[in-house]
Amino acid sequence: RVVTAGVASSHEEALERALRPKWLDDYVGQTKAREQLEIFIHATKKRNEALDHVLLFGPPGLGKTTLSHIVAAELGVNLRQTSGPVLEKPKDLAAILTNLERNDVLFIDEIHRLSPVVEEILYPAMEDYQIDIMIGEGPAARSIKLDLQPFTLVGATTRAGMLTNPLRDRFGIVARLEFYTSDELCRIVTRSAGLLGAPIDAEGALEVARRSRGTPRIANRLLRRVRDYAEVKGTGRITKDMADKALSMLDVDPLGFDLMDRKLLEAVIHRFDGGPVGLDNLAAAIGEERDTIEDVIEPYLIQQGFLQRTPRGRIATAQSFRHLGLNPPQGGDL
Ligand code: ADP
Repeated sequence: RVVTAGVASSHEEALERALRPKWLDDYVGQTKAREQLEIFIHATKKRNEALDHVLLFGPPGLGKTTLSHIVAAELGVNLRQTSGPVLEKPKDLAAILTNLERNDVLFIDEIHRLSPVVEEILYPAMEDYQIDIMIGEGPAARSIKLDLQPFTLVGATTRAGMLTNPLRDRFGIVARLEFYTSDELCRIVTRSAGLLGAPIDAEGALEVARRSRGTPRIANRLLRRVRDYAEVKGTGRITKDMADKALSMLDVDPLGFDLMDRKLLEAVIHRFDGGPVGLDNLAAAIGEERDTIEDVIEPYLIQQGFLQRTPRGRIATAQSFRHLGLNPPQGGDL
């Protein structure tokens, strides 16, 4: 299953592309990842070499794809983009690899979903810029080595732990993307509103930012919905009041939690007495897949301190009880 976190249509995708920053300087937040990349990009450009392979991990919508495009742009090379599930056969990947030009960037999204036979091709490609391919069939089959141009693999995944060790070990640069602060999202919302030609005031931008689950993709999506609302129900100007009304209508609560977030917290609290509850039971209770819970829903709830992940399962914290208007249980360790 492809987790695209709410990309509703190709129209939305086109809008998303239009809002994508193109250079490191426009890339808001992620100071650690940005600083690392800035230094390594600068050094490799001076030496006219390929940048070391880069692994980006973190929940959907935090800017992994955007960063891979920026890396290619800053290096001044081409970017080829594909994804783990799309590469079904070794020859699919071999075709892409053999077409790369010197120092190009190959971006593989959802790299944890590569099939093992395809992944095998990557090892010598990443290590020695070489691949082994089989030609012919049956007893006449033989393997030949092909040299590749030096290239940089940028792999993206939601959780680094889902990669096999041999693959993870072949990345020289590993960067974890973090949720954005309201302040950072506010800058992103203000910039996007400018690009969309939508009038917005500072408090309006902050309201959208605060309710975007720490995620630029969600911030940009909510901004577009709030803009529609302000055009129909107001003068078009996005104020705090307009943002609040539009977001309430969209079932985005004051903390930015959506229906799925609340459904999950309610299930832990009402059906499992606040937990601990195992992932499979939780998935069955709310009718979502395990992966969606682990990749999309719970990371933000955990980061915000509403949910805890323990060896015995997920536990709702006192904050969760209070957020749902309930009294936290007494005497617990939360
Ligand atoms: P991912 O690949 O991690 O799912 P994307 O790179 O597709 O996320 O980012 C989703 C959208 O969020 C992009 O279209 C871009 O407009 C916006 N975005 C992501 N990161 C940033 C950032 N650091 N600064 C500004 N906008 C960002």
